[in-house]
Amino acid sequence: MLARIIIGLGITVIFFSIAGRRFYWLSKLMRSGQPAPRRWQGFRKVSETEVVEVAGQKKLLKWTVPGLAHFFTMWGFTILMTTIIEAYGSLFSRRFHIPLIGRDNWLAFTEDFFATAVLVSLVVFTIIRIKNAPSRKERESRFYGSHLGAAWAVLFMIAMVIVTLLLYRGAQINTGYFPFENQYLHGAQSFGFLIGPTTHQLASFASPWAFASKIVASWLAPLGVGVNSVLEAVFLLLNISVIAGFLVFVSYSKHLHIFLAPINIGVSRRPRALGGLDKTPDMDMENVTEDTVFGAGKMEDFTWKQMLDFSTCTECGRCQSVCPAWTTGKPLSPKLLIMGLRDNMFASADRLLSGGSNADVATLVPTTIDPDVLWSCTTCGSCVEQCPVDIEHVDAIIDMRRYEVMMESRFPTEAALLLRNMENQGDPWGLGSSQRTKWLDALDFEVPIIDGPIPEDIEYLYWVGCAGSLDERGRKQAVSTARMLHRAGVSFGILGPRESCTGDPARRMGNEYLFQEMAKANISTLHEVGAKKIVASCPHCFNTMKNEYPDLGGDFEMIHHAQLLSHLVATGRLVPGVAYEGTVTYHDPCYLGRHNRVFDEPRNVLDAIPGVTTVEMGRCREKGFCCGAGGARMWMEETIGKRVNMDRTTEALGTGADIISTACPFCMIMLDDAVKANGRDEEVTVMDISQVVERSLQG
Ligand code: SF4
Ligand code: SF4
Repeated sequence: MLARIIIGLGITVIFFSIAGRRFYWLSKLMRSGQPAPRRWQGFRKVSETEVVEVAGQKKLLKWTVPGLAHFFTMWGFTILMTTIIEAYGSLFSRRFHIPLIGRDNWLAFTEDFFATAVLVSLVVFTIIRIKNAPSRKERESRFYGSHLGAAWAVLFMIAMVIVTLLLYRGAQINTGYFPFENQYLHGAQSFGFLIGPTTHQLASFASPWAFASKIVASWLAPLGVGVNSVLEAVFLLLNISVIAGFLVFVSYSKHLHIFLAPINIGVSRRPRALGGLDKTPDMDMENVTEDTVFGAGKMEDFTWKQMLDFSTCTECGRCQSVCPAWTTGKPLSPKLLIMGLRDNMFASADRLLSGGSNADVATLVPTTIDPDVLWSCTTCGSCVEQCPVDIEHVDAIIDMRRYEVMMESRFPTEAALLLRNMENQGDPWGLGSSQRTKWLDALDFEVPIIDGPIPEDIEYLYWVGCAGSLDERGRKQAVSTARMLHRAGVSFGILGPRESCTGDPARRMGNEYLFQEMAKANISTLHEVGAKKIVASCPHCFNTMKNEYPDLGGDFEMIHHAQLLSHLVATGRLVPGVAYEGTVTYHDPCYLGRHNRVFDEPRNVLDAIPGVTTVEMGRCREKGFCCGAGGARMWMEETIGKRVNMDRTTEALGTGADIISTACPFCMIMLDDAVKANGRDEEVTVMDISQVVERSLQG
């Protein structure tokens, strides 16, 4: 007995000390990061998040089979904490049981059920890993680039935890020390019916609820009580050793997420790190000193939350499998990007912890992150949406772009023109403010151009956006939207030449200074005219004004035209016609759908048109696939891999629809280009939902 106490406690002290030291070191490393404001959302909100995402495994369960396997493994580990208590108790007394509940059948069943469920889940994980092995599927495998050896080692260790547990429980049954037995056995023994019972007799008296342990006991029973006593001690110590060893392994591997995920999820941006980018300091040049660093160029520029992100990645590859850049053959994988940053963080740990100089340290781009990786991102947010541990990839990518643009002046050459146009002409095309009212020529009614306080009889300010005002195809959307609003009796005006780009492309490109300048100018104009309710047609404008302008003092009631049209249709103010019968598929713009959760309204508008049949693409709503234009990619060359818009359009054409509808001028342009490139523009038309409604009215 003394020997097993000494061995068990000795192993525990050694392994727990190693793991404890590692966790302390990790916590110091994270705390060396920059401050991350607005991370504590209050006890209630954090608790709700933990219940839904960690306990409920909401995100993981979106992928049913691996989600269920993970659910049972996670809960198995949690529930089986009781067996750890029992194991340590058994070190000291073979008759140990947890006080009050330690002999209850429900506990026996729960423990055996979860032990079995974990084993089954491990088989599922093994099959998934073999089926998706990168050696078979290469880049298509979500495990491509993950640390495969460590993953297999973890599966093996978890299996060993359960196997040793069941073996020592089986041996316990055969020696008469199983906590869940023996109401009958003790009765039989006390009445003298059983003297020196055999293993078979002892096993038959064990609680039937401990079904898995009993099966193992039946396998060990032929060995006799003496051997089972030895096995009980050996497997008990092995179980404790594997658990303690697992703790050490976890602290040095990607399985850190077991401990870090609940923390990372608790301090993530809520409801998700999509929509607006995180708040940045005011870029007013008065605040800038020679030590000021814009964005993240070296590891010390990241916040503690970002460092926590890097450490929490499970290498599951869910983000990689949905990334439009990766799936079309670009070098950007959000998983590999996070893993690369994690490797850099650990390699930089000594410097970060000692506060040493980074003057001679190479910048993250291009040494850790290749420029083609950085600039391939469309900021579509699919990675953030899918990540089960709430890693905020887009924020990290934009931070690195900020450093590249503002500190190093390094960015794709074509983007220079975009920035210059925005700076000088207030729009990405450089056409200038005088062109912003041209689209009005197509209307047969007057639209007030607001140049002073908005008159009381005008309900909405229509924010047309650069594409709606200046691009030929974007103008069609603006014209139809205006016509439908007019038809429904909605009073609206526009800023015309006083409207300017919201700054979204500059911000997504990393030019935070230009974004803030443009945003502040727009906010000032909007305050000057007294704008309150603004309807925007472009999801990028909508997103920026709704989610990012408030940080700069611009708080307006924002609505996207899809939402307004849906409301008008629902209230009977806009009645679609019957002139069009056909099949329509709807493409979710990333910044309307995933970033701002406007999924139903555009569909409601289409469904309200008599005669229209709607058909969904496989990747729709939260899983909608990008058109390739976001993140200022619209103005950059796409020279690597397949074009993102071609990939999406192939999917849309596959539905057999004769209209591909959307609610974003950028998406319209990208999809229209791809339909034409496919030679299908005779049969298939790309339209905004407002155009589809308008077509239904044309007799
Ligand atoms: S935001 Fe989209 S394009 Fe960028 S890394 Fe994530 S999934 Fe890929
Ligand atoms: S970033 Fe998130 S989704 Fe991507 S591999 Fe890591 S844990 Fe998985």
